[in-house]
Amino acid sequence: MNRLDDIPALRAEFPQLARRIHGKPLVYFDNANTAQKPQLVIDAVSDYYRLHNANVARAVHTLGEEATTLYEATRDKLARFVGARSREEVVFTRGTTEAVNLVAYSFLRPTLKPGDEILVSRMEHHANIVPWQLVAAETGAKVVPAPITASGELDVEGTVALMNPRTRLVGLVHVSNALGTVNPVAEIIAAAKARGIATLIDGSQAVPHFRVDVAALDCDFYVLTGHKLFAPTGTGALIARRALLDAMPPFMGGGEMIRKVSFEGTTFNDPPHKFEPGTPNIAGFIGLGAAIDWLQAIGMDAIAAREARLRDAMRAALAAVDGLRLVGDARARAAVFSFVVEGAHAHDLATLLDHDGIAVRSGHHCAHPTMQFFGVPATARASLAFYNTEDEIAVFIDALAKARRMLA
Ligand code: PLP
Repeated sequence: MNRLDDIPALRAEFPQLARRIHGKPLVYFDNANTAQKPQLVIDAVSDYYRLHNANVARAVHTLGEEATTLYEATRDKLARFVGARSREEVVFTRGTTEAVNLVAYSFLRPTLKPGDEILVSRMEHHANIVPWQLVAAETGAKVVPAPITASGELDVEGTVALMNPRTRLVGLVHVSNALGTVNPVAEIIAAAKARGIATLIDGSQAVPHFRVDVAALDCDFYVLTGHKLFAPTGTGALIARRALLDAMPPFMGGGEMIRKVSFEGTTFNDPPHKFEPGTPNIAGFIGLGAAIDWLQAIGMDAIAAREARLRDAMRAALAAVDGLRLVGDARARAAVFSFVVEGAHAHDLATLLDHDGIAVRSGHHCAHPTMQFFGVPATARASLAFYNTEDEIAVFIDALAKARRMLA
């Protein structure tokens, strides 16, 4: 039997899901912001501190070896989980944001010239816009927005038409956090590759929801963040081609990333350690390893199938709400829904929903250019995970109707 066949038992693995908020059972529809953590992940973190606490890759004593083994095991697990070509291609970072900055500063900036272009879609999270703007401002390069359509899909033809000999990198979100759109990343990677352009895919919202195979996608860089993957905050990764990592200079200097330091000159460690200075979030990465084991035991295909059912139920339910407009309604979408409701500000809606125990996000979702494109200052966003239920969707829809009446 799969754990998904017994949702109450699966939900019982998440202590937070048993909480009551303002006297009502919590309906947690803010998974795109951060996902809740199963007890097993919490235990892995506390076991590290209770039993194994030691620094990694430094001590030969037993605790040091235990900590290093547990920590490095996550690299193998993550490499398998996302289909990396090897464990050396998995660089641990604090999350997606740090991973994109690492690529911007280490890969792109050293060779970026005035007039060079970085092509990113209009539906990117700020984490896949601002690091490029920073290195572009220093070098005279520019960030070019790739077009999207009124339904929140990538304009593939328009995007490919913008690729030219000055384009140095294409950055694209795999699943949009603001719209829920699932992008045709393989098509864009192939088009960029055929033109000799580097590619970075932001997989923050993809890896928690379906199986990803980075080697098959054949992108140069794939970035992800652990806390959306049911793991602790401050964990994440850059998956990158080994040859590129070999050629890239370090991003930050310090301990662990070196081979030999002298005042005459310093030599650096091999990737991935070259990019991992200092003491990392050891407990967090051990928690990430536990989260991956747990997800794989359930199975990403089973998770994707369940979420597709929840998505369709939510889409149908939202379509029946008077005065509600979806912001982005792509054909290929995740169970992430941004919407505006006539006469109600998104923050007021989210506040009233919270009074009914329902957690949704309201705001710009770190995607100002996406909001500008749709001409809205903010949206409310409901984002589901496989532990959510159709009953929760019904509670949410009732609360939404009630909130709308109150705000009318
Ligand atoms: N990219 C996308 C699509 C996201 O949804 C997020 C988080 O909201 C990020 C990047 C940034 O992730 P982090 O803040 O964990 O670095």
